[in-house]
Amino acid sequence: MRIVMIGSGYVGLVSGACLADFGHHITCVDKSEAKIDALERGEVPIFEPGLDAIIEHNRAAGRLDFSKKLAAPVAAADAVFIAVGTPSRRGDGHADLSYVYAAAREIAAAVTGFTVVVTKSTVPVGTGDEIERIFREEFPSKDIAVVSNPEFLREGAAITDFKRPDRIVIGTEDARATEAMREVYRPLYLNEAPLYFCERRTSELIKYAANAFLAMKITFINEIADLCEQIGADVQKVAKGIGMDKRIGDKFLHAGPGYGGSCFPKDTLALVKTAQDYDSPMRLIETTVAINDNRKRAMGRKVITACGGSVRGKKIAVLGLTFKPNTDDMRDAPSITIVQALLDGGATVHAYDPEGMEASKGMLGPVIYGKDPYEIAEDSDAIVLVTEWDEFRALDFKRLKTTVKTPTIVDLRNVYSAAEVSRHGFSYFAVGKKSSA
Ligand code: NAD
Repeated sequence: MRIVMIGSGYVGLVSGACLADFGHHITCVDKSEAKIDALERGEVPIFEPGLDAIIEHNRAAGRLDFSKKLAAPVAAADAVFIAVGTPSRRGDGHADLSYVYAAAREIAAAVTGFTVVVTKSTVPVGTGDEIERIFREEFPSKDIAVVSNPEFLREGAAITDFKRPDRIVIGTEDARATEAMREVYRPLYLNEAPLYFCERRTSELIKYAANAFLAMKITFINEIADLCEQIGADVQKVAKGIGMDKRIGDKFLHAGPGYGGSCFPKDTLALVKTAQDYDSPMRLIETTVAINDNRKRAMGRKVITACGGSVRGKKIAVLGLTFKPNTDDMRDAPSITIVQALLDGGATVHAYDPEGMEASKGMLGPVIYGKDPYEIAEDSDAIVLVTEWDEFRALDFKRLKTTVKTPTIVDLRNVYSAAEVSRHGFSYFAVGKKSSA
């Protein structure tokens, strides 16, 4: 099939590269000239493990190309996917759909013959209906079916998630579109990928319901963690104990500094707004959003407490900035709020992240970057582990002990245990489990 991907970011580029790997011919389009120029030079503008090899392989095979303009590839396409951003709208928290509608209009103007237009972007319920209305009223002669096909991939594991998904949700009741979508994903049948067809509005809501549920699960275990600290229980053992119950499951039960990233914060907020608009408020999610917002700043206070109640004039070494490991994505990362709280408290913040430092510039205040954990930890009053990159999982505490000013570690991801860290003379503060001061 000839497929065009509009938007070549974390979702569009991964989806485009993987669909090319399935054997389709893909053109990835983006308005950002810098992004397309980089891709054409053979550079991958985002960090996603394994993506560069798939792009290189499929470009060489002639199945994947890039373009700044959509008209020519869309005119020849069987299906066009919209994978542009849907950030929170400034002011009210609704999803900003301006990029989606702008792309839809450009696509409709370029379409020739029957074409399936697929929203892969996360869009609120009714967006497909609105796109269809735009097509019907502004482009009445065009033969287009509008389909919802939300994406569930996780950054850092995006290739595997796209190629071996738990499910592929497709919202359409149009027979020709159903056929086309089966064809798009046919190569996945070998892996018995479960295609799940439903109405378009249902499909749109599935994406928000899934993200809101996961955000709620994280927030639940974070509150249990707070209680553990008060009563002397261990949240990791509680999580294991409840996760062994198949009705609960053991995923998304890691206590930490609060969820962040490019999806959960904006999608929970957008669902809350949609629910309010339909006079069907979702109090669980409203509360989830509020708890999570408070939590990030509270993690800054946790560090301050670990430093004896003040960080004024102290040097804090922050390990990890991205919202999770194996990505360079800094959108809504908890580190942003934590670092701000430390700067507000008068600390000097030194930071290191394996992939996120470039993206973090402009998002953090006056932070001093270092080349590795050991450099930034020199003379520090506390080391704060914010993102659990692999290279922070086996720190050389013996070496660190000789260079830090005060041996204190605040482990916001529960990578270590009090026993193993205090053995080296460090005070250890974790989330929802025993600390050793
Ligand atoms: P992104 O910001 O990385 O990429 C979006 C790209 O679209 C940008 O490169 C931008 O330049 C481009 N763009 C915007 N308008 C355009 C237009 N009219 N024509 C061509 N290009 C245009 O965003 P992302 O993280 O890939 O997310 C895209 C969508 O997928 C969002 O709705 C998001 O909620 C959803 N989603 C994201 C993830 C994730 O992990 N990032 C996972 C599932 C779903």
